[in-house]
Order: sequence, then C-alpha cells, then structure tokens
Amino acid sequence: MAARKPLIAGNWKMFGRSADLGEIAALAETIGPASGVVDVLICPTATYIAAAAEQVRGKTILIGAQDCSAIADDSARTGEISAAMLADAGARCIIVGHSERRTLHGETSDLVRRKAEAALAAGVTPIICVGETQAEREAGRVAEIVGLQVRESVPEQGANIVVAYEPVWAIGGTRTPTLPEIAEVHTLIRRVLAERFGDQANAIRILYGGSVGPKNAAEIFSVEGVDGALVGRASLKAADFAAIILAH
Ligand code: PEP
Repeated sequence: MAARKPLIAGNWKMFGRSADLGEIAALAETIGPASGVVDVLICPTATYIAAAAEQVRGKTILIGAQDCSAIADDSARTGEISAAMLADAGARCIIVGHSERRTLHGETSDLVRRKAEAALAAGVTPIICVGETQAEREAGRVAEIVGLQVRESVPEQGANIVVAYEPVWAIGGTRTPTLPEIAEVHTLIRRVLAERFGDQANAIRILYGGSVGPKNAAEIFSVEGVDGALVGRASLKAADFAAIILAH
C-alpha cells in the first residue's frame, strides 16, 4: 500500500478574530518536529487567510480555506471568492462540500464537484467532504449515500484531492461512529475512488471528521485507512489541536 502522509486539518468555521491568529504561533511551538511527519492545516475564515499565511511563514503549518466559488474565471460575481484568489492569499487546500454548506446552503454534489474542479484549476488541493445523516444511517443507507456523494462530488480528472468522511450526526456533538464503522466507510470510499482512479486512489488521503478531540484522537488514528482528521471545535485552541496532532 502507498505510504500516505497523515493530514490533520482544523476548520475554524465562522469563529475567531485576528487576535486568535496567535493560536497558530502557539500551535507551531507546541507541536515542534511533529509537523514534519504529519501535515497540519488550519482553515480560518477567508478574511484571515492572508494574515494566517503570514503567521506560518517559515513554519510547516499550512493554511487553507473553508469554501470557494465554483466559478474559476474572474467575472462579475458579487460576494464570491475564487479558488485562485484564495490561493493568492496563501491557501494551499480548500474544504468543499462541508455538511453545513450542503445542508444550510443547499449545496448539491454537482456544485461541490465544480468547486473541487475550481480548486484543482487554481493549483489548490480540495478537501471534499461526504457523510450520511443520522436518518440515513438508521435506514442502513450509509454505503449508498456516501458512495453516491463520492461518485458525484469527486472530479473525473486529477487524483490530487483529499476526501473527508464526516458523518453529519457526529459533527458538533459528542457521538462518533464505532471504530469498525469508521473503518468500513473508509474502505468503501477508497473502493469507489479506485473505480475512478485505479492505483492512483492509494495515494488519496481519506480523513475522518466529527467530534475528534484530544481524548479520542489516538484510537481514531489507529483505524486502518484513516489518514488523519478534519477537526472543528477542537482546532480553535492550540493546546487541544496540538494534543490531537501529537496523538498521531
Ligand atoms: C467539522 O465541522 O468539520 C467538525 C468535524 O466539527 P467538530 O470537530 O466540532 O465535530
């Protein structure tokens, strides 16, 4: 199996102000050399990307964005931010298709795929989020829903992507799937990626996201096929996020 460097990504969502960017410097200091064996990414709100990128200059922490426009070309799109602009500000990865955007902003897998394509066109790695709702899990539809989301959200071209499995019901709460359940879905996702990309699928990192914290990170990272995590709340404070990173 191809060796995949783990990626631990923090999604700051609509939290934080410029004063909180100091958490990034504190994180760099706490994790020290760990940042060499694990890729560490922080995705602040778009307005703070440039300042955050300045904070990590000379350090191994990467800065990313939480969303981008599906439109790649500069054009009259009031309020939109293109992937190229985010890259210009210092973003190296862009989260697309987070369940909050799928649910609260009505984003379809088709739109998510076009955003991922826009990110790739800008030379930025899209982190494509997929995951089932509680009702879908209870109805035994996890493989059907997640498989379809992967098939429809992942661009046809270019395996330079990351996929994040984030069960919607596990985000922002206290519950997570069992370790065998996480393993099962990660295996499914890699199988679907292999249908599209063949052996290249072995290089694609598949993250787990949903209530990862300092207490459960180590056991989640021990699951076969889990190549890191997408972390919400616990990425906001350097001490918590560092504990997760150091658990890898
Ligand atoms: C997320 O929103 O992507 C997430 C995983 O959040 P949390 O870690 O807070 O559950």
